[in-house]
Amino acid sequence: MEKPPIHLVWLRHDLRYHDNQALYAARQAAAADSGVVIALFIATPLSWQQHDMAMIRQDLLRRRVQALTLELAELHIPLLAVEGSDYRGCAQLIATLLPLGVVALYAQQEYEVREMTRDEQVASRLRLQHIPCYWFDRLCVMAPGTVLTQQGEIYKVFTPFKRNWLAKLAASGVQCFTKPAAQKPFNLKLPALPLMEEGDNSSAAWSVAELDVLNRMRSFCQQRVQDYASARDFPAVDGTSSLSAYLAIGVLSAQQCVARLQHEAAQQLEQEKSGASIWLSELIWRDFYKHILVAFPKLIKHQAFQPETDKINWPNNAALFEAWCNGETGYPIVDAAMRQLNETGWMHNRLRMITASFLVKDLHIDWRWGERYFMSKLIDGDFAANNGGWQWAASTGTDAAPYFRIFNPVTQSERFDPSGDFIRRYLPQLASKTNKEIHWPHKPVTAKGYFRPVVEHNEARKVTLALFLAVKGQES
Ligand code: FAD
Repeated sequence: MEKPPIHLVWLRHDLRYHDNQALYAARQAAAADSGVVIALFIATPLSWQQHDMAMIRQDLLRRRVQALTLELAELHIPLLAVEGSDYRGCAQLIATLLPLGVVALYAQQEYEVREMTRDEQVASRLRLQHIPCYWFDRLCVMAPGTVLTQQGEIYKVFTPFKRNWLAKLAASGVQCFTKPAAQKPFNLKLPALPLMEEGDNSSAAWSVAELDVLNRMRSFCQQRVQDYASARDFPAVDGTSSLSAYLAIGVLSAQQCVARLQHEAAQQLEQEKSGASIWLSELIWRDFYKHILVAFPKLIKHQAFQPETDKINWPNNAALFEAWCNGETGYPIVDAAMRQLNETGWMHNRLRMITASFLVKDLHIDWRWGERYFMSKLIDGDFAANNGGWQWAASTGTDAAPYFRIFNPVTQSERFDPSGDFIRRYLPQLASKTNKEIHWPHKPVTAKGYFRPVVEHNEARKVTLALFLAVKGQES
């Protein structure tokens, strides 16, 4: 019997079957030429390690691939989950599948340098055999390079970017792809490839079923988004969507979030300060940082967006860095936040801002140390968002906080964890402190079992100003 044409879908950060354009297009093509769709996932632990990818995020990826294998099996779409090593092996691995009768490859575009090199290697390998590759630009709601100033330049500041982004949304709407139709069951003898290994189950608290994730997003858009404006800054409250881990590995697309939000909260979206509008802004920040990354590849090389800030002579005290990593700085909000990160793999956005500012502007440690540490711990680690967040906090990035804007960790704590509930959750040794004392448990003496402050904020602030002033105005 003749082999059916095979349409190979290479899944990477689009681990879903709803709104997956690559999968959808492959299924359409297979329907047209009586072919079949096969999906492929290649685990690349060596490359993940080079990217400092947290073990919990690796585990989430592996668990999600296992769940997707079962979900796709219901549509009779086999998912080959293969254990590779690094990106350099991908072209060779895909080449071993070509004799099955592969007629085309479909995948979602990725933007980081190593990923683009990997994809170019795969494309040239397939070109030798006249097999086309179709790349789909779906990582952002608006593809990078499509939101530009009137002069055709990339926006370096968020607010006008957002204005233009919203105008484009109003003009063209957002398109989501339906789940692919089931195909007829078929038998195929697959080459013997190393099967993807299981993870360490460290992400077990996070469901990996696609329908669960979609339901969670839907219910957020129906209910909690209404309180998002008032609740989102308070880490003791469940005020944000907690969808970042799913967006990062593509169990969910940002397009699905926008479409659902428009459906559930259309009226709210007309008011600029509503929870729905502010949540949409956060999704636009996600696009913004990815657009910036594509336009300025130097960011991938960990260079500062504002070149003169790369000349800052950070003291980089290793002991202070360790205290920060371990949540032992003597600043309760910082320590509780770092413990949340270390214990759960996730940290609330307000706390990411506070801890990042503290590392750079109180401890005078290069923001790249913190960026790397976050990446190695976060379940939602995403290069563009993480780099953008760190450079914002360090005042080295595009649209960054001005260098003289230095968070006071104690007043931030009083403002955003007023009753100390969040601090108590992660620092039980402070449980008996009053709501007032808990933000600074050092008067008259440091609370028993707690850490003495490693720096004095006002003094540290002066040093930061001097570090920045020393390089301001210098040629890069
Ligand atoms: P929600 O408030 O519900 O927001 C919805 C979605 O919008 C998020 O899931 C996320 O995809 C996106 N989003 C929200 N805020 C931002 C932002 N400031 N920049 C880009 N996208 C945003 N986010 C990551 O996804 N991965 C990271 O590695 C990451 N590192 C960060 C590091 C620092 C220093 C800072 C200050 C922020 C970082 N963020 C990162 C952004 C933000 O903190 C998280 O996206 C957010 O806390 C995730 O929680 P949520 O899903 O409940 O967000």
